[in-house]
Amino acid sequence: MKLSLLIILLVAIVIGDVGFARNQDAKIFSILALTKTKEERNQIANAGIAIDKVYSDSVGFIGTEKEIKQLKALGFELKIADLSQRKRDFPAGDSSFHNYKEVGEALDAIVSQNPEIAQRFSIGKSLEGRDLAGIRISGSSKRDSLPTVIFMGCHHAREHLSVEVPLKIAEYLAQNYQRDARVKNLVDTREILIVPMVNPDGAEYDINNGEYKWWRKNRRPNTDGTFGVDLNRNYGTGFAGAGSSSSPASDTYHGPSAFSEPETQAVRDWVRGRRKTTVLLSFHTFSELVLWPFGHTNDQVPSKIDQEVFEMMGKKMATWNKYTPQKSSDLYLAAGDTTDWAYDELKIFAFTFELTPDSMFAGGFYPGASAIEPTFKANIEPALYLIERAENPYAVLKNQQDPLGLIP
Ligand SMILES: [Zn+2]
Repeated sequence: MKLSLLIILLVAIVIGDVGFARNQDAKIFSILALTKTKEERNQIANAGIAIDKVYSDSVGFIGTEKEIKQLKALGFELKIADLSQRKRDFPAGDSSFHNYKEVGEALDAIVSQNPEIAQRFSIGKSLEGRDLAGIRISGSSKRDSLPTVIFMGCHHAREHLSVEVPLKIAEYLAQNYQRDARVKNLVDTREILIVPMVNPDGAEYDINNGEYKWWRKNRRPNTDGTFGVDLNRNYGTGFAGAGSSSSPASDTYHGPSAFSEPETQAVRDWVRGRRKTTVLLSFHTFSELVLWPFGHTNDQVPSKIDQEVFEMMGKKMATWNKYTPQKSSDLYLAAGDTTDWAYDELKIFAFTFELTPDSMFAGGFYPGASAIEPTFKANIEPALYLIERAENPYAVLKNQQDPLGLIP
């Protein structure tokens, strides 16, 4: 009797845990699926899995028992490591990362110390009502008439380093305005708009209770009881196509319709309203890549000239940060991302950087606070280059003898 009661209790605990885990805190694994071809990578992306890293013989991603079963059923050979022991404390161990409140305070500090060149703005509210805060850096009061460059971070919750780098770019520009002639000239002749945390609800969820949750999406309650829409699959170009999932439980769930989420609606309406925007950079982590459109199709962008501009700018930036430059869909297809939409609809030269580290084994989404400074340093020159190029991205084509500008 006692034993059977114990068994019933144990079963109830296990079932209860699994039931709870489905939506919130499932046991999390780092998974390598052995792959040889891009077709196999696309097959995995199309299974609704958010691939984090493409290796020569495999792809890496974060998943639960569900994804393991799914890929085994598809015949993939897997290497699996349990990550449950590797959760870290964001506020304590990684306290120099900025949570939502601290991002707001950091923006306020830049504005109060540099009121002549910095102003705060908001592009809207998140699903849970948090401010989607930005900072405008410009030495000119002439709004909407200067070449405009946009930096964004943290479409994906667990990619905390993608908050730090745009925030540090804002600080760098403000701090060096008076002491660096190049920075002063750029700030005086450009409008630089930075939104470091596009997904504050997800970012806050990922660190609540002092434990990383490996959360990627926003916090939309889906109709089936799961949570979250992948904001970087929710944009309009190629919506619901390859590499995005129609399953709400998936990490790459594209949402019920294009721009269904307040965060992507806010980005869309704001970018549409900034008519002088010529370049945009959306920071993500990790893998050390410089990516450009398209991601939703294997096709090149329709304009051969634009394709050349993307390639030249992407490769030039990679000379500084040493990341791998490539067209996004050369990795695997992923539909509905920011950069495909920004280029497709608005002809903005839009890039994605997958920041440090280069692999899951080097820290993945949680590389530790010591990664912040070197990652910023590796990417300040690419950022300044984009700000420079914002005046006329096509100027990179002028010197065909030295298309990458490598000859001093
Ligand atoms: Zn991402």
